Amino acid sequence: MPGKPLLTVGDLVLRSAEWLGRREVEAPRLDAELLLAHVLECDRLRLYMDWHKPLTELEVSGYRELVRERGQRRVPTARLLGRKEFYGRRFEVTPAVFVPRPETEGLVDRALALLEAEPALRVERPVVFDIGTGSGCIAVTLAAERPAALVLASDVSADALEVARRNALAHQVQGRVEFRQGELFAGYAGPIHLIATNPPYVASGQIPDLPPEVGTHDPRAALDGGEDGLDVLRGILAGCGERLVLGGWVVAELGEEQERGALAATEATGLFDTCRMERDLAGRPRYLMARRAAR
Ligand code: SAM
Ligand code: GLN
Repeated sequence: MPGKPLLTVGDLVLRSAEWLGRREVEAPRLDAELLLAHVLECDRLRLYMDWHKPLTELEVSGYRELVRERGQRRVPTARLLGRKEFYGRRFEVTPAVFVPRPETEGLVDRALALLEAEPALRVERPVVFDIGTGSGCIAVTLAAERPAALVLASDVSADALEVARRNALAHQVQGRVEFRQGELFAGYAGPIHLIATNPPYVASGQIPDLPPEVGTHDPRAALDGGEDGLDVLRGILAGCGERLVLGGWVVAELGEEQERGALAATEATGLFDTCRMERDLAGRPRYLMARRAAR
């Protein structure tokens, strides 16, 4: 009697992509491939070279489990893989940390450009502060790209900081990033040349409307910015008078709903002489850029 025909790489990719698509997963084919490459411990290109290769039952069942998690519980692929690429580097993610987003690479671009060009930041050892570091993606990337900088990074979550420390070690910047547990500046009194931050900025009332990948799988403390989403930003701005050097900058990622409130909150401090929102690649207001007046 002929046995049951074995499923091939191609069969599984096509069937899973179709199933994930019906469940309204955003990039079903990409996710189907990333998850299978993970189970087979190979890269995606290899899947195409092995398209007609039959798989073992163990491989098939391991893969099906991951695809089910992705489609039914809407667990983000990065969480199933335990890692996410950010600015060309690989970052470990655990349930304790927010998954790094592509928008945040735009924040890093802006921070690097300011460090390069702004007179007040062109000092021998600029101090950069990442408030709410999560996986450490902003702090570690800035330290790796600008070895002369001293990077400080805070988080309220001790579990997140453990992940961030491992990421710093993996990218060999542990000597140049200082992690501190606590609220906002976590006891650091200054001086700071540049604040580069992606604070929680979702209005509390909007959290139930987020896609399940975000609303149920990112830590609540990473998202919840209070009634108008700006609680943490206001705390940061309030600490700038004592800590941010004259001519220093704040670069903060926010949501488009926060544009007016963020500009108003920044102007209300009376500390800044430049204050604007820049847009992300999708054309949405995203990055608050504010310079402390030189005197
Ligand atoms: N920087 C990471 C990134 O861009 O992917 C994580 C950003 S996540 C949106 C915000 C982080 O801020 C979370 O890790 C959360 O624990 C932390 N956080 C929330 N409130 C905070 C506060 N008052 N002080 C310091 N960190 C805070
Ligand atoms: N950008 C996040 C989202 O996916 C919100 C992030 C944040 O609060 N910093 O909605």
